[in-house]
Amino acid sequence: MSVRSQIIDIKASLPSGVSLVAVSKMHPAEAVAEAYSAGQRLFGESRVQELVAKYELLPKDIEWNMIGHLQTNKVKAIVPFVAMIQSVDSARLVEAIQSAAAQCRRVVDILLEIHVADEQTKSGWDYADLRQYIESGALSQMANIRVRGVMGIATNSCDERVVERDFMRLRECKDELQPLFGDTFDTLSMGMSGDYPLAVRCGSTMIRVGSSIFGERDYSK
Ligand SMILES: *Cc1c(COP(=O)(O)O)cnc(C)c1O
Repeated sequence: MSVRSQIIDIKASLPSGVSLVAVSKMHPAEAVAEAYSAGQRLFGESRVQELVAKYELLPKDIEWNMIGHLQTNKVKAIVPFVAMIQSVDSARLVEAIQSAAAQCRRVVDILLEIHVADEQTKSGWDYADLRQYIESGALSQMANIRVRGVMGIATNSCDERVVERDFMRLRECKDELQPLFGDTFDTLSMGMSGDYPLAVRCGSTMIRVGSSIFGERDYSK
């Protein structure tokens, strides 16, 4: 299956209102260009260096999303051009994004990444901590940040009930936080190659799909 036909098939399977982020991490710029020629404009990357390199090479109407763990000292490199930072999981990171965005006079869209999976290794806010942070009012001081919703990763399990539990939890978090932010808090980013149909049934508005579009990633490189 070609990149083009995978993009077209996945898009055709999505209900209206659900967007597709093509996760191009560890695949070359040529693969992104192929997806671009199939009409894809929304791409996700998880490493700053790779994201910046692809941004420089590829058409400027691509909407780049940062989806991987982001260190505060690397924020400045992506804030000038990034469309959305999905992996915001600490107050320090919020502050770094605000400061960099103010410097280049941009308003940057972010998602709050919430930890719901069983694995300890996956990043994201503990929901109670996030709630407390939001209630402190700190986020509403951030004039150059627009909080668009939440992002999460479900447990890596072949038990659909476990994955569904995680997706429903994310949805509940999003629904609970929505009134605190208003109408622009409209994004629930969940679902990857292995679980996106279930994520969509659980209310996802944005899926992040890599290997089903571009093939397996080679981690030995
Ligand atoms: C890599 C990655 C994806 C895509 O994973 P696939 O299984 O290849 O679809 C989605 N979300 C995040 C946060 C990722 O790091």
